[in-house]
Amino acid sequence: VVQGAGGYIYGEETTLINSLEGWRGEPREKPPFPPVQGLFSRPTIVNNLETIANLPFIIKAGVKKFRELGTKESPGTKLFTVLGAVKSEGVYEFGLGIKIKELLEACGGLEKGKELAQVQVGGIGNFFGPKQLNVRLTLEDGPGRISAGLGNVFVMDTGMQIEDLLLSWAEFYKRESCGKCAPCREGNYQLLKIAERFKQGKTLENDWENIRAIIEVLEKTSFCALGKFAASHWKTVIKIYRKKFFAHDKTKDK
Ligand code: SF4
Repeated sequence: VVQGAGGYIYGEETTLINSLEGWRGEPREKPPFPPVQGLFSRPTIVNNLETIANLPFIIKAGVKKFRELGTKESPGTKLFTVLGAVKSEGVYEFGLGIKIKELLEACGGLEKGKELAQVQVGGIGNFFGPKQLNVRLTLEDGPGRISAGLGNVFVMDTGMQIEDLLLSWAEFYKRESCGKCAPCREGNYQLLKIAERFKQGKTLENDWENIRAIIEVLEKTSFCALGKFAASHWKTVIKIYRKKFFAHDKTKDK
């Protein structure tokens, strides 16, 4: 087991391999894929620690028992990182198929005096309001269920401002961009500047057009998933809050 060097991007296998070899932490061109040519040019299989952590239970209790912990389509358990307005933030392991409300209850519910506004699941912008908490967290999207993605669950109360969240996410993507490709390096910098303007209540007339253009370039040309995640994140948030930020914009949402 090797710990990444502290950045989000080290979750990408070739970045981890680069860092283990002493190089800069950025993803490599693929192919060759690591199973063919990986660490020090030798065949390498990289697995997430969460995957490996399942093995002792599967070996001891058997595959059947493990599958029973989840749903038919999403067997087993998942680690959920719950943050925000709950009493006990933390990393929780539950069987897949758990309802959002059950997860919130396991975290002690909301902090005293706080009222639930929305729950964001999966890290790229799926929002659920107080009336949608029966949705189940699985590994696939479908009726009554949603892919939990990376397992991130962020609980927003009515006192939180979307501008603050947007700024925090924009800072995250700007900070975590490894800088290898221009769309992500420059795009996330520009998106951060826009998020700062949102926070200051000083949006410019062409910010909406700029966001759309940056998102499109990020989606189509980012070298790795981080740039695409940033695009999805902004897309969802802006879709929901467009009226608030761009009341003057009359163009159709693309
Ligand atoms: Fe690095 Fe971002 Fe390009 Fe990925 S998309 S290689 S994180 S600059």
